[in-house]
Amino acid sequence: MIKVVKKIPELKEIIKEWKKEGYSIGLVPTMGYLHEGHKSLIDKAVSENDKVIVSDFVNPIQFGPTEDLATYPRDLEKDSILCENAGADIIFNPEPEEMYNDNFSSFVDMNTLTKGLCGKTRPTHFRGVCTVLAKLFNITSPDKAYFGQKDAQQLAVVTHMVEDLNFNLEIVGCPIIREEDGLAKSSRNTYLSDEERKAALILSKSLKEGKALIENGEKDAKKVIDLIKSLINTEPLAKIDYIEIVSWPTLEPIETIDQKILCAMAVYIGKTRLIDNVIL
Ligand code: AMP
Repeated sequence: MIKVVKKIPELKEIIKEWKKEGYSIGLVPTMGYLHEGHKSLIDKAVSENDKVIVSDFVNPIQFGPTEDLATYPRDLEKDSILCENAGADIIFNPEPEEMYNDNFSSFVDMNTLTKGLCGKTRPTHFRGVCTVLAKLFNITSPDKAYFGQKDAQQLAVVTHMVEDLNFNLEIVGCPIIREEDGLAKSSRNTYLSDEERKAALILSKSLKEGKALIENGEKDAKKVIDLIKSLINTEPLAKIDYIEIVSWPTLEPIETIDQKILCAMAVYIGKTRLIDNVIL
């Protein structure tokens, strides 16, 4: 069975031995309840590194006070099986107190990329994300760390943080893995009732229509956003948090589509907030 490590000193000791042997190390940071999307990151990490660590940690400081920290799904046993089958070497599954002791008081924050998109409705989210990732990078000193484009803003933020703070690793972005009908895989999909699960299709469907409009030559970002909005508003269970088109990977608002862009959305389906995006 794959080794589950709960303590930071124990993990550091293992990594010290690996480094002595000259092994390359890949890190896949996750919040657990793993699915095919996570597995695609682990597969890539396994194919590119001698050793792979999957961190499985529901990071409390990236949740806002009214968000779903308490109910976030967890299943370490199932996660262990997926990691083992994918060929990972260690699951790092610390308790929150192991990562944040009573004296904890240092945070990593960013002034630019974290302000728009998800940062608007989740103002402390990326501070929590940057802080936990800085800690994980320091604990595991990986050669490469793997992130999904599913969380496109997170991918841009972590890439920028690594550059700003001179972390000695490469960030690898991986494509979005979807269900057969188009819904982006997410641990939070488990919150959806059958009816909501059907309604949730409106995210990927509307993005697809927006993408087609751009590919047919539409350059006006507002027109594309308006089309996507109108499609989402046809779904009674859906409530838009945001739909935006920004430059990629600099995440600046744009009016004219004349460069690489990220079209990103967050939409509530019932009480569940789902995100999806396309990069063009
Ligand atoms: P999470 O456990 O939701 O924090 O996600 C951990 C990592 O898996 C992040 O880098 C996500 O972007 C990535 N991920 C989650 N869902 C998907 C998906 N459907 N396709 C690709 N990557 C994903």
